[in-house]
Amino acid sequence: ALSATADLIRLKDVSFSYPERTSCALNGLSLTIRKGQKVAVLGKTGSGKSTLLQLLVRNYNPSQGEILLAEQPIHAYSEQCLRENICFLTQRIHTFSDTLRNNLQIANKTKIDDLKMREVLVQVGLAKLLEQESGLDLWLGEGGRPLSGGEQRRLGLARILLNESPILLLDEPTEGLDRETERRILRLLMQHSANKTLIMVTHRLTAIEQFDQICVIDDTNLVEKGSYQEL
Ligand code: ATP
Ligand code: MG
Repeated sequence: ALSATADLIRLKDVSFSYPERTSCALNGLSLTIRKGQKVAVLGKTGSGKSTLLQLLVRNYNPSQGEILLAEQPIHAYSEQCLRENICFLTQRIHTFSDTLRNNLQIANKTKIDDLKMREVLVQVGLAKLLEQESGLDLWLGEGGRPLSGGEQRRLGLARILLNESPILLLDEPTEGLDRETERRILRLLMQHSANKTLIMVTHRLTAIEQFDQICVIDDTNLVEKGSYQEL
């Protein structure tokens, strides 16, 4: 398993190009993230922020350089171990054609009880989904209750708040939410990740001072890293 090493995630001079593309998506990126740190990743569209997260869950392998998790090369871990330790909220949330309950239970090893699910749905502002008689048996996805973009995003957030993985990777979790909701959700995320390592890609600077490390990627290169005070 991923042990308690303090330097949890380490990228060493990582470069990456998508297959069949000549230009690189990331170029010589080095970064150390210690256990429990909260890291914000900023940068303009197309700079490689999502790519960075894709590499950290090993959906792709670096073309050059190395990624270490708890001082072991990322390729040394089993798929199962990575999945159990890393929770990844992608930029586009996928809803499964299944019940609301199963859509929330997804990627969790232990069974989440209904009460907890209801509590989190209320927290993320999805209480409306529980108004119907079907409750948590509400059918989502194809042929089910359609979700708006904002509702999908909140469903993704509910999944995160119900997940106990020690490493959270979030790709623009609050995109499209109004300021007030964003602030509230960020507070919940910070509480939930108090003892976890959090890497969050974001366009917004809301609550940026709460992060231990801020990484700015500019056109494939890491241009700045440091704390809010330093930058
Ligand atoms: P945004 O803020 O818009 O989400 P981003 O910083 O997350 O942007 P990435 O999605 O990491 O950017 O993309 C980095 C570069 O790699 C872009 O030029 C993009 O077009 C390209 N790219 C992303 N995904 C793929 C893919 N699956 N195949 C080929 N190229 C890709
Ligand atoms: Mg992206």
